Amino acid sequence: MKDCIFCKIISGEIPVKNKVFEDDKVFAFEDLNPQAPVHILIVPKKHIACLNEVNQENSELLGYIQLVASQIAKQKNLEGGYRLVNNCGADAGQTVLHIHYHLLGGRIFAWPPG
Ligand code: 5GP
Ligand code: ZN
Repeated sequence: MKDCIFCKIISGEIPVKNKVFEDDKVFAFEDLNPQAPVHILIVPKKHIACLNEVNQENSELLGYIQLVASQIAKQKNLEGGYRLVNNCGADAGQTVLHIHYHLLGGRIFAWPPG
């Protein structure tokens, strides 16, 4: 989608130095502003704005992202645990309107989250 920063990263229009994973469906790269020693964004190549746009057709893709997340977590040696976070909408702090999952690890996380 035009004017979407993650679509531009996925297409290569904006070069990304820190790609972690790519296949035909999913792209993963390190967050610009990491909130933990490991902070990776996992993004479907298809532009979906947020969880509110999920339907029967694309729900399988989001399930697949969880498989990718668990594989990246293994590669990054996050045996002790990790968080997979999706912010949906302004109240949750979503700033990029292309659905993405934050894979966070390498430190102890508090609950409830801020
Ligand atoms: P949100 O707040 O929407 O859940 O998360 C957006 C995330 O994207 C933020 O953690 C922010 O640091 C990250 N981000 C925004 N623009 C870029 C960028 O151009 N490159 C990378 N690597 N991360 C970005
Ligand atoms: Zn997009």
